[in-house]
Amino acid sequence: MVVGEAGGEGEEEAGRHTRATGETEGVTDDRQVHEHELIIVGAGPAGLCAALYAGRSEMDAVLLEAGFPGGQLLLTELVDDYPGVEEVGGMELARRMADHAAKFGVDVTRGHVQRVRHEPDGTFRVEVDGGEEYRAPAIVFTAGGTPKKLEVKGEAEYMGKGVSYCAICDGAFFKGEDIAVIGGGDSAVEEGEFLTRYGSSVTLVHRRDDLRAQAVLQKRFLEDEKTAVIWDTVVEEILGNGKQATGLALRNLKTDERSELSATGVFIFIGFTPNVTMLDFHVDHDPVGYIISDRDMRTSVPGFFVAGDVRSQLVRQITTAVGDATTAVFAAEKYLQDLHERPAPAKDAGASAARERQTV
Ligand code: NAP
Repeated sequence: MVVGEAGGEGEEEAGRHTRATGETEGVTDDRQVHEHELIIVGAGPAGLCAALYAGRSEMDAVLLEAGFPGGQLLLTELVDDYPGVEEVGGMELARRMADHAAKFGVDVTRGHVQRVRHEPDGTFRVEVDGGEEYRAPAIVFTAGGTPKKLEVKGEAEYMGKGVSYCAICDGAFFKGEDIAVIGGGDSAVEEGEFLTRYGSSVTLVHRRDDLRAQAVLQKRFLEDEKTAVIWDTVVEEILGNGKQATGLALRNLKTDERSELSATGVFIFIGFTPNVTMLDFHVDHDPVGYIISDRDMRTSVPGFFVAGDVRSQLVRQITTAVGDATTAVFAAEKYLQDLHERPAPAKDAGASAARERQTV
């Protein structure tokens, strides 16, 4: 049970749900407070797997998800690289993972997380929209990330129908076809090179005449006989036949010349944003913002564990996400056990320490 500002008033369900009053930026809050052992933030594959294991271990856990469970799976047409499942629709796999987690009894709650606070006593407060608040001594944070969008006509319409943000996930669907890659950074160039194993051609479209990618990656990409680059050019529209993407409408920024490029696979790599803005405290991260963890998914903040796409790591796959999440839950469980076994500090410990300091 987390000790906080929760009062007895409005207490529900064996004291786990209470009402708190307090002040935030001068505004008096009157929030419903839910207290748990563990909060899982995000219900992509990592969050759902964390919920499964937390439920199976009979932990008192809640899973908070803003929308429908599934995360990036909901944007994936077909998954063909999950061991033991040769082919499954992304939505179908999401539904199965959510049902599987629910079977083990974890409370899956719709809640758009606004802020995660780290309290001076080491516990966490998670505020969701609608005024509800969740508190726990440990969190498994699986909020994922969001691929940056081109924001052009046809992008949303053909997402999962030719438009993709993940070469490893979707490259194999374009065997022997023409592929376009948008972007000029490490991801575009590295993933573009990866796509040459499938596509008959891979054409990189970049808005400048200089790639941002590391020289070694550029060299590998440019020397491949299947690759080409269209410089100084932006995508104005992703073209299609109503069912599938068929190509790109392009504009050269220097000459204003318009052209079309035929491609059934359109891979967009113009950046990826880890979803960390809701964190109200510092946790160590890499230069892009992905959270750094050790091999047990522990971060620089005790009690704050991380799993899935929001974690700094080499690849971001469904298989890596569920592996991370499995480890994170067991590490969180161990953390909570250690916390319970730790002797509570003596009430007057601070005063005695102060007295000792004065007398030295
Ligand atoms: P990035 O380095 O930010 O590159 C994004 C690319 O997309 C840039 O070339 C940018 O063009 C272009 N771009 C951005 N917005 C665009 C728009 N609206 N329309 C057209 N083009 C647009 O992102 P990233 O490649 O995903 O890499 C992210 C980080 O991960 C980087 O630090 C990278 O080094 C790292 N990373 C490392 C590796 C590796 O070491 N093997 C692999 C992948 C990623 P401009 O160049 O004109 O700005």
